[in-house]
Amino acid sequence: MKNKIQKIITVASVFILFVTGCAKVPVQQNESTIILQAQKEDKAEQQQEKQDDLRKQEELKRQQEKTKLEDPIKLKAAINGQGDSKKIPILMYHSIKYEKDNELRIPKEKFKEQMEYLKKEGFNPLSLNELYSHMLLGSEIPQKPIVITFDDGYADNYTNAYPILKELGFKATVFVISGVVDKHEDYMTTDHLKEMDKNGISIEAHTVTHPKLDTLSYNDQLKELRGSKQALEKILGRNIDYIAYPYGKYNNDTLKLVEQLGYKMAFSTEKGLAHKSNGIYKLHRIYISEKYSINQFKQLVNTK
Ligand SMILES: [Zn+2]
Repeated sequence: MKNKIQKIITVASVFILFVTGCAKVPVQQNESTIILQAQKEDKAEQQQEKQDDLRKQEELKRQQEKTKLEDPIKLKAAINGQGDSKKIPILMYHSIKYEKDNELRIPKEKFKEQMEYLKKEGFNPLSLNELYSHMLLGSEIPQKPIVITFDDGYADNYTNAYPILKELGFKATVFVISGVVDKHEDYMTTDHLKEMDKNGISIEAHTVTHPKLDTLSYNDQLKELRGSKQALEKILGRNIDYIAYPYGKYNNDTLKLVEQLGYKMAFSTEKGLAHKSNGIYKLHRIYISEKYSINQFKQLVNTK
């Protein structure tokens, strides 16, 4: 009996062990299969993430490379999200020296009064590079922008206008007839041009001989437009990027040539505020006559 009971216990134990054992193995197998599967999935995810990270890093690198290549002014403009450019008054002077019955020549005292008015009212004279950056690339400019220009390159621009501009800390531009530099006492010398150009009064082109460009052949226009650019570049050791047309005259050949020669903007004498809608090779200016009173001057610079 005792043996029988032992046998039964043994068989039962074996059975239980077998059952639990058998039951356990598939459970263990199941769990490990699941764990393995999960581990596999984790690995795949990690690899995917790694690939994503790499892609992101590569994209970032590409962006950084691109950024390095782009014009910093353009970038700044893009960051600032500037919209349309402002309409800006560009004043056009010639000689700053009194001469009876010549309205192109403004007495020094009158010029000083006009400049002091601009200073008092908080106008901010721009260089042509600043004008270009604002107009074409949307870069920021100060409030009440204005541009001061002189045509022809008279010697009195150096002796009379320059000291006034320097004292007020004003930037300006002189469009110089390159053919008369160092050749006539009424016009500036190489030394004048160099000194002014280094001190906020930029020198730019106004042709070689001051012709009416629209009356010249294509080749003669080319000589005038290229010749003045090259001559001034030689004197100043930098690029000449801007030109004003003598008498404000131009035709389709002129417009083609200035662009081909690498000028960035050009100025006419058409009256009005400058805006890129004028066309960047025929920007408007505001002529200042000796006949204008200070009140007329105020009205002109405050035109909206
Ligand atoms: Zn002129």
